[in-house]
Amino acid sequence: MICSFLDAFHLNHLQRKIVLVVVLIILIPMVVTSTFSASWIATRMDASIHRWITEAAEVDRNWLATVNQNGRLFADVLNEVTHGQPRFAAGRSPIPSRLQPMARQMGITLVQVFDPGGRQIYSSPKATLDTSWTKGQSEAVLKVSTGDKTMLAAVNVLRYPRNQARHYRVVLGTLFDKELLGRLDHLSGLKTRLFYPRDGDFAKAFSEEGRPLKLRLPPAAFEQLKRQQPYYSDSAENGRYWGLYTPVADSNGRVEAVLFSGLAHHRGDTLITDQTFLIVLIIILGGVLAGVTGLLLSRLIARPVEVLRDGVMRVASQDFRATLPVSWRDELGDLARAFNGMADSLREARDEQRREFQRDKIAALGELSLAMAHEIRTPIGVINTAAKLLDSAGVRGDREELQQVIRTESVRLDQLLKDFQQLARHRKPEFSRIDPREPLERALQLMLAGHDDIRVQRRYTHDDLRISADPELVQQAWANLVRNAIEAMGDKGELLVGSAVEDEELVLYLQDSGPGIPPELMTRLFEPFYTTKSHGSGLGLTIATTLVEASGGRLELVPETRSGARFAMRFAIVEAHQ
Ligand code: ADP
Repeated sequence: MICSFLDAFHLNHLQRKIVLVVVLIILIPMVVTSTFSASWIATRMDASIHRWITEAAEVDRNWLATVNQNGRLFADVLNEVTHGQPRFAAGRSPIPSRLQPMARQMGITLVQVFDPGGRQIYSSPKATLDTSWTKGQSEAVLKVSTGDKTMLAAVNVLRYPRNQARHYRVVLGTLFDKELLGRLDHLSGLKTRLFYPRDGDFAKAFSEEGRPLKLRLPPAAFEQLKRQQPYYSDSAENGRYWGLYTPVADSNGRVEAVLFSGLAHHRGDTLITDQTFLIVLIIILGGVLAGVTGLLLSRLIARPVEVLRDGVMRVASQDFRATLPVSWRDELGDLARAFNGMADSLREARDEQRREFQRDKIAALGELSLAMAHEIRTPIGVINTAAKLLDSAGVRGDREELQQVIRTESVRLDQLLKDFQQLARHRKPEFSRIDPREPLERALQLMLAGHDDIRVQRRYTHDDLRISADPELVQQAWANLVRNAIEAMGDKGELLVGSAVEDEELVLYLQDSGPGIPPELMTRLFEPFYTTKSHGSGLGLTIATTLVEASGGRLELVPETRSGARFAMRFAIVEAHQ
C-alpha cells in the first residue's frame, strides 16, 4: 500500500528508501509518545473538567446551603423571641408580627403549622405539601402545590414543644420555582438540576416531561451519596454531560436532596478526552509530517545523487563529455566538481591514447613495410640478377643453374607471402575437446615426410586427459616448431615428444637434438622478423604463438635443456575422456 502511494510521487529506489526510513524513524517514536501523551492529555483534561465542575457547582451548593442556614437562623430567632413557645391558633401565623419583615428578608416565603394530629391549621401562602419529610428529619426539600402551581420548598421542620410526643410542627421554608434553577445555571455556567426525595427515590424537580423522573444512578453512586460524598461521572444523564451529583444533607445527616451540576457534551468535545481518537490523530499527523519530511529529504539528497549517477553512467558508457552542475555548496558540490575534473582527465587521456595508438599504428606499419621491403628485396634482387645473367649465359648448364636460382627464390618469396598472410588472417578458432597428442602427431607426420633419418621418441603420460582447442590451429603451430627443429638438426637427428601434467595444466613438448638456443638469443626469439637464418622470415615462432594463444594455450621455450631446443605448449585440462 505504501509502495503504491509512493508511486504517485514518481520516486526512484533511493528516494523511496529515504522516505520509508524517515517515516519509520519519526512514526515509531511518535506512536509510543502518542500513546503516553494521549493517555496523559485525556486524564489531565478529565481531571480539569472534574475540578472545574466541582468548583463551579459550589454556586449551586452554596445557594441551597444558604437557604437551609437562613431557615435554621430564623428558627433560632423564633425560639428566642417566643421562649420556645410560639402561639398556635388555626388560621394565625406563629411568627410574631415584629419578626415578619425579618422573615421576608431571610427569604422565608412559606410558613405552615400542623397540629399534633397532623392537620394543617395554618399556611402562608395557601399551599399543600405533595411530599413529606421522614421521621426525625429537620430539613427537607419538599414538593409544594400553591393553587395550580407546583413549586419546591427548602424547609426547616420545627417541633413545639420539642421533646414531647404530641407536638405542633412549624414549617419554615423558601419556595422556589423553575426559574431559580435557570438563574443558577446562569451563575455557575452549568446545567443545574435538583432531585428531591419522593417515594423512597429521588425525583427530578420541574421535569419537562410533566411526570416525576427518577434519578438513575448505579447502586455504588447512591451509596456514595448517602455517605454525603459527591459522585462524578463523565457520561452523566445518559451520556450527555460531565456531571457532579452533590448530596444535600440536613443537620441530622439525612440526604434531603441531590443537586446535579453538569457540563453538556457538545459534538467533538469528548474527543479531547478520548485516548483512541488522540492516538489516531497524533499518528495521522505524525505520518503526514514524516511523509512530507521524507519527501523533502529525498528530494534534497536523492536528486543530486541521481544527477551524479547519470553522469557516472555516461562516463561508464565512454561519454567523457559528461559534466555535472556544480550548484550545490556542500560535499555533493565537491563531488560534482571532482567528477567533472575526473571526466576531463579521462577525456584527455582517451584523446591522448587515441593519438598514441595512431602514432604506434603508423610506426608499426612503417616497421612492417621496412621489414617486408627488406625481406622481399633480397629474393627479387637475386631473381633480377639471375634473369640478366640468363640472357648472356650461353652454356646450357649455366642456364639451368640460373633458372633453378630463379625458381628457388620465387618459392622463397611465395613462402614469405604465405607467412604474412598467415599472420594477418585471423580465423575464428573452432574449439573441440581433443586428445592433445593428435595435432602434434599429424604435424610430425606431415613435416617428417622425406626425412627418414630423423627418429621420433614418444613419452606421452597424460593418459585420457583432454583439452579444448582448435586442432587445426594447434597443428599449424606444431608444424612451424617441427620445421624449425628440422632446420636446426639438418637431415639427421632425434625428436623427443611427450606430455606431462603440471599445475593442473597439460604440457606438451617437442625437443630436438640440434645445437639448441644460446641464452642471449632466448629473449629475442619470439620477436617478429627475428631470424638467424639466411633465408628465414623470422615469423615462424610469432605465428605459432598467435595460433596457440588463439586456441586458449601458451607457447614457451623451455630453458636449460642439456641438448637441443625444447618448446612446450600449455593447455587447461578439460576433463578425462569418457
Ligand atoms: P625463422 O625460422 O624464419 O628464422 P622463427 O621465428 O621460426 O623464424 O625462428 C626465429 C629464430 O629462432 C630462428 O632463426 C632460430 O635462430 C631460432 N630457432 C627457432 N627454433 C629453433 C630450434 N629448434 N633450434 C635452434 N634455434 C631455433
